[in-house]
Amino acid sequence: MKCFNHPQIDAIGFCRACGRALCRECVGEVSGILCCKGRCESNTKTGIESEALLREARAQFQALKKVGVSTMMRTTWLMAVAAILFLGAGIFGKIQKDTGGSSNLMLLIGIVAGLRVVFMIVASRQIRKVAPNTASK
Ligand SMILES: [Zn+2]
Ligand SMILES: [Zn+2]
Repeated sequence: MKCFNHPQIDAIGFCRACGRALCRECVGEVSGILCCKGRCESNTKTGIESEALLREARAQFQALKKVGVSTMMRTTWLMAVAAILFLGAGIFGKIQKDTGGSSNLMLLIGIVAGLRVVFMIVASRQIRKVAPNTASK
């Protein structure tokens, strides 16, 4: 394999961004990844960054998938019940003119739990859409 820019010189690697063969003179490097010197360096940099973000998102997704949607939904329903109980207790405290401030705490816990429930439901829908086989178990 010869260099894209120098047809008579042997290439030592390929650009990660555009795939061209590069000789020692044409090769650039971003975080240990080869690319065209002065041409694809910025592309490679954004590529590495978006890849890292994608990998992180995928890892979180895999972790959720491993837990299993049915287990996740069971926890979600428990949390939904807890959210309703806490909200109910908080509202009841408010009606009773509770001055201790514990009704505010109850309301807060209820709202946080409720938001988590919404998040879990959205996440499980996403997993079902992407991986219907694993999710149906
Ligand atoms: Zn390139
Ligand atoms: Zn070259």
